[in-house]
Amino acid sequence: MELEFLRWLRERIPSSPQVALGIGDDAALLNQTAGKQTVVTTDMLMDGVDFRLAECGARAAGRKALAVNLSDLAAMGARPVAAFVSLALPRSDEGDLAKQLLEGLLPLATEYECAIAGGDTNTWDGPLAISITAIGEANTGRSWLRSGAQPGDAILATGAFGGSIRGRHLTFTPRVRDALLLQELGANVHAAIDVSDGLSLDLSRICDASSCGALINLMKVPIHSDATALANPLDRALGDGEDFELILAVPALTAEQLLATQPLGIPLTQIGWFEAELGMRQQLASGEIEPLSPRGYEH
Ligand SMILES: [Mg+2]
Repeated sequence: MELEFLRWLRERIPSSPQVALGIGDDAALLNQTAGKQTVVTTDMLMDGVDFRLAECGARAAGRKALAVNLSDLAAMGARPVAAFVSLALPRSDEGDLAKQLLEGLLPLATEYECAIAGGDTNTWDGPLAISITAIGEANTGRSWLRSGAQPGDAILATGAFGGSIRGRHLTFTPRVRDALLLQELGANVHAAIDVSDGLSLDLSRICDASSCGALINLMKVPIHSDATALANPLDRALGDGEDFELILAVPALTAEQLLATQPLGIPLTQIGWFEAELGMRQQLASGEIEPLSPRGYEH
């Protein structure tokens, strides 16, 4: 199976300028660009936890596995370079699960110019697990960390939140283009994160890393139509997770410019401010401010 699969893979995967040596040797060789830092992220998805194979199928599972990694690169403000795909395949699989997984993720890889440069497959008695390591690059010192938010920075969010369980958690667009556009514009982004576990929880992670607090204006939280179709849409927007939108900390002046020009293909919304006072607070429609407990998916 392995040899035949590798042959199929090599035929199926286009060559790419950033990969000097791809699948087939003991290791891959990636070309490096002067003035760039290598950005590395890895994410493992498991049947029954991150997707249900019997319901969504292998293609969708493969796509999601790559998309979550691309989202992490976007959150760092990095350009995708290559990905390495490792599969733990259930022994019971008599079909071509591995091929379907790859067929599912290859269009996304092509779209974001991310080469598939290697990986591994194994068979075991457990359920399907997909581990992808994605390599990206960013100008040296220009990656966005979680730790750079400052009191007085605006909290900007791309897109809308909540209800991803209705299907968006499989089909979402990683915000790679938007991140790269902001980098090209030279936007002064102090900190960023992608919302995998919940808007309020991931925002609290920026706060923790940056030693600051945040005030969210609940009236400003963009609620996705997937959430408005369900009960408690605002709660869902704040805590559902798997939106894979970006939260950015930017100085007030930058925020003003970005909000006025809306340079991304998707809406940018200011949902609040970073503050010196630690902890999270929410501003209600009445103007009243009360504490906000971050919620979302805890691993
Ligand atoms: Mg992330």
